[in-house]
Formats: sequence, structure tokens, C-alpha cells
Amino acid sequence: MFAWTLWGCGVAPMEPAQAVAEARLPELGAPAPGPVPPPVADGFDFPVGPPDASGYYDAQPFGRNTHLGADWNAVTGGNTDLGAPVHVVAHGVVTFAADIGGGWGNVVRVRHRYEEEGSLRDVESLYGHLDRVDVAPGEVLERGATVGTIGDAHRNYIAHLHFEVRSVVGLPVGPGYAADSTGYLDPTGFLQAHRPK
Ligand SMILES: [Zn+2]
Repeated sequence: MFAWTLWGCGVAPMEPAQAVAEARLPELGAPAPGPVPPPVADGFDFPVGPPDASGYYDAQPFGRNTHLGADWNAVTGGNTDLGAPVHVVAHGVVTFAADIGGGWGNVVRVRHRYEEEGSLRDVESLYGHLDRVDVAPGEVLERGATVGTIGDAHRNYIAHLHFEVRSVVGLPVGPGYAADSTGYLDPTGFLQAHRPK
């Protein structure tokens, strides 16, 4: 890249063809910088009762009480869903999997890539309050793989899944509730609009 910087300064130390070749050299045969790019998703399912959230309901939809996610609960109520499997909504790469305590407990975050209007876009899904975590950062997952189980964030709540979809990948884990939802999507609306063909 330095060659282009020199060109920008008005200095011409090399013939153009040579400058292009040298500028590209570091990329030849080198691994892609940063994390593994996620496989392109073939569509999105729901994270509980897959593929359609069968047996579950959204007890606190996105936007209600400035909620930044959806709270999935079993229709059978109470803690009957404690320990039930939570599924990754689409092919993706795990970017975070850890117990961060507080109001969150165990959190898993997955980066997804999907095609829309002819271009590739990235989106992130987040699974909060998990009782058990079954994945580790860097793992490549296929749609429907189990990322963990429904939990109660160390008995902070009646067991449920706090589920987010973010249009901005890599934000801080966040507050779960905020009047400003920039970078967050209505998770149910997003899933419904991107079901597998
Ligand atoms: Zn929630």
C-alpha cells in the first residue's frame, strides 16, 4: 500500500506496473486478515422451537419498554423451558461466548453473512441468559446448531431467551434496553423477512 501513498505525494519511484505488483505482494497466499468470514447464510430460522418457534412466544417484543431484543418463552410457562436447546438462527461464526454475569449471564454472539439485493451483508445474532454454552469463539456453525440452553442468568429471571439481531456487527454487548436502537433490528421482523427459500 505504501506505493499508493508515495504516488499520492507526487513521488514516482517506480513504473506504474511495478508499483501495482508490489502493492499486491503482501496479499498473495496470505490468510485473510481478521476472523474467518462467515459462510453465506441460506436463510434464517427462529432460535427456539425451530424452525418456526413452535411451542414458544415472544413475551417482550422488540421496542416494548425500549427492549432491544425479543424474550422467548415456552407457552408452558414458568421455568418449564429452563435447559431447552437454543439454536443458531443461520450459518455463521461464533464471535463471543462467555459468562459476563450481571443482568446478562452467559452470552453467545454469532456473525452471519447473507445476500440481499445482490450484495453481501453482515448481521449479528445474540443469545442471552443461557444456562449452558455449547460453542466457542471462532466456531463455524450451520443453521440450527445448538449454541446452548435457555437459562435464567443466575436466577435473575424466570428462564427465557433474550435474543437480539444487530445490523451493526461488533458493538459492545449493550444494555438490553435503550431508547436509541441504532444498530439493532426487530429480530422477529428480520427473521420473518429472511426465511430459507
Ligand atoms: Zn430481554
